[in-house]
Amino acid sequence: MREFLSRLAAVCVLLSPLAATAQDTSIDSVAKAMRATGVKSIQYSGSGVNFQVGQNYSPDLAWPRFVVKSYTRVASYETPALRDDLVRLQGEDPPRGGGQPVRGEQRQTFVMSGDFAWNVVGDVVNPTPIALIDRQLQLWTTPHGVVKAAIANKATLQGRVISFVVPGKFRVKATVDGQNLVEKIDAVAPHAVLGDVPVEIRYSDYKDFGGVKFPPKIKQTIGAYPALELTVSDVQPNAAVDASVPEPIRQTPTPYARVTTQMVADGVWFLSGGSHNSALIEMKDHVILVESPLNDERAAAVLAEVRTLVPNKPIKYVVATHHHFDHSGGLRAIAAEDVTVIAHDVNKAFLEKALAAPASVSPDRLAKSGKKGTVEGMRDKRVLTDGTRTVELLHIAGNTHHSGLIMAYLPKEKVLVEADAYTPLAPNAPAPPAVNPFSVNLAENIKRLNLAVDQVLPLHGRIVPIAELHKAIGHHH
Ligand SMILES: [Zn+2]
Repeated sequence: MREFLSRLAAVCVLLSPLAATAQDTSIDSVAKAMRATGVKSIQYSGSGVNFQVGQNYSPDLAWPRFVVKSYTRVASYETPALRDDLVRLQGEDPPRGGGQPVRGEQRQTFVMSGDFAWNVVGDVVNPTPIALIDRQLQLWTTPHGVVKAAIANKATLQGRVISFVVPGKFRVKATVDGQNLVEKIDAVAPHAVLGDVPVEIRYSDYKDFGGVKFPPKIKQTIGAYPALELTVSDVQPNAAVDASVPEPIRQTPTPYARVTTQMVADGVWFLSGGSHNSALIEMKDHVILVESPLNDERAAAVLAEVRTLVPNKPIKYVVATHHHFDHSGGLRAIAAEDVTVIAHDVNKAFLEKALAAPASVSPDRLAKSGKKGTVEGMRDKRVLTDGTRTVELLHIAGNTHHSGLIMAYLPKEKVLVEADAYTPLAPNAPAPPAVNPFSVNLAENIKRLNLAVDQVLPLHGRIVPIAELHKAIGHHH
């Protein structure tokens, strides 16, 4: 004990300048050190690398990397609003995983204002309420935003750690350094696939920019893999912010609730209406759902449609084409209905863990049900049949979009359901500058497996005859 005390004393002597500051730490002194009170908005720009969260080639690999040539974020703490404008280039060679391939420069704009979130692509705005909480978290974990949010949410202070909760949205811990500057954020947010997702941000190398303190080095991880590494070169406090919500966004507050149904064959339906589709296949005494994308809200709308189309048969299986978050975000809700998930072995352990994960920040349907979900794996092929209809689940081998991508093939109906290997363009869209390697690979797999396909039901986009795939990859039959 005495030895411990003398060691402690030695440590205190070494750290005495810091220890003196630590005694002064209060949320007010952090606000003062950051000069946060006078910052109503802030714009910062730089460059670095970012990573496509939830789009890894296999569940055990890091998120795919991109080179960020330019990055500008405008954060308004009064509206509140956030706008990110990026220009990025492909960072993986060869391109593996989602968000690929990127040819040349890709421009991206992500916006949040109040309770609306949307993306801008050229002249088009697309509602993305699925990203709302993450963007709100991004705003309230910026170096100045976190101080304001701490004050607004009656944060507590323990040592150098400021903690607060925005109920139903996120939990945040912010650690301050010896100068009372925010150096680390540890947040937990709700996530459609992961339940609770950890978000960590590190701020370092603080400098003075126009009278406010700002960290030129920003590093962020989401779900324990790197998400952003940014070097900030320019900071403008109190920059102007256009936080107006475009009319089409205001008019589409719940895009995931819209389900449009097309009958493809007797007992086979295509469920579309938004950015992600599903397929429903009726068997003798049950139905099979192929894909439950996005989130609880989408899954609830798809479930309601399934029950309208086939009221008397339970869903026995949901086929998960791959683990990418946009495609697997509705699995938790379907698992809450005691439906067994079928996925490639590559995804099995990941999906089992995801379905068993807690959702404590914002309890979802699965968390409320208390169920853990069941996942059955498969390798090259699994056949589901009831004697009248056959559904073949097949691995799309060698596809660089994902190592464990599966498709559903109905031999009698000559229908193929696939995700991300081939996404048909809009009917009058100009031909892309280069052929998509994922689509070339899909065509090779169709040939290798000798599949007789008439129609493709893509899980993005519209139903097309197989000739469209051949045309897209440059084979004209
Ligand atoms: Zn994907």
